[in-house]
Amino acid sequence: SESETLLDISQLEVAYGGIRAVRGMDLTVQRGELVCLIGANGAGKSTTLRAICGLVPVSAGSITYDGKSIAGTPSYTLVRQGLVMVPEGRGIFGQLTIEENLAMGGYSRKDQNQVRSDIEHVFELFPRLQERRSQSAGTLSGGEQQMLAMGRAMISRPRLLLLDEPSMGLAPLMVEKIFEVVRTIAAEGVTILLIEQNARLALEISQRAYVMESGQIILQGPSNQLLDNPRIRAAYLGEE
Ligand code: ATP
Repeated sequence: SESETLLDISQLEVAYGGIRAVRGMDLTVQRGELVCLIGANGAGKSTTLRAICGLVPVSAGSITYDGKSIAGTPSYTLVRQGLVMVPEGRGIFGQLTIEENLAMGGYSRKDQNQVRSDIEHVFELFPRLQERRSQSAGTLSGGEQQMLAMGRAMISRPRLLLLDEPSMGLAPLMVEKIFEVVRTIAAEGVTILLIEQNARLALEISQRAYVMESGQIILQGPSNQLLDNPRIRAAYLGEE
């Protein structure tokens, strides 16, 4: 399992009743890469993430993580193996403090002393969270909640982090901040699969990209090449 490929999706099919939300998808993520999956609303991006995390059943194809088939593995088992998702709704606990939310990210870890020092490390990365550490998370702005969700994921020591639309619903300045956070996490050595509707930012931050339309990958390649691709510029970057 020391191969360079951390995630290998092959000929994946996911259906909701008669709707084929993901069709014949091939996608790989190498260790240390930041890969993005872009596409319009309803293209099937979230369904892909849910399938990886064992939250929707796979009707055909395979999903291999760290050399092992993971189709049908429950998400709590995957988290213990380092495969962690930050969901679109962020899933933070509004009644708990920021610090308590972070501690939840380490609930399945045995090394609780190390968890405490990891929490301090997250506070170093995100000073905004440190300033508010004893405040209930429900009082945070949307962007701060997104930071908290990412910080909590970091506490579970991810090896592959799946980010579902982290820019969703945030003001442009906050989106920039969140993307800085994504860069920081990647620089810490975490492999990332990023799902985004904000194609420009996602392509600017990632090394490789996949473009999804109606359940299928229609284009893929190095992100800087896709940024220059006329078809992508017209369809996703709002250019003529
Ligand atoms: P979004 O940005 O809206 O999350 P997406 O690219 O992530 O879009 P999906 O949410 O994966 O797209 O949706 C893919 C297709 O599957 C869409 O046609 C959607 O209507 C359908 N779909 C998604 N979830 C369900 C569900 N629980 N039941 C039935 N159909 C669903």
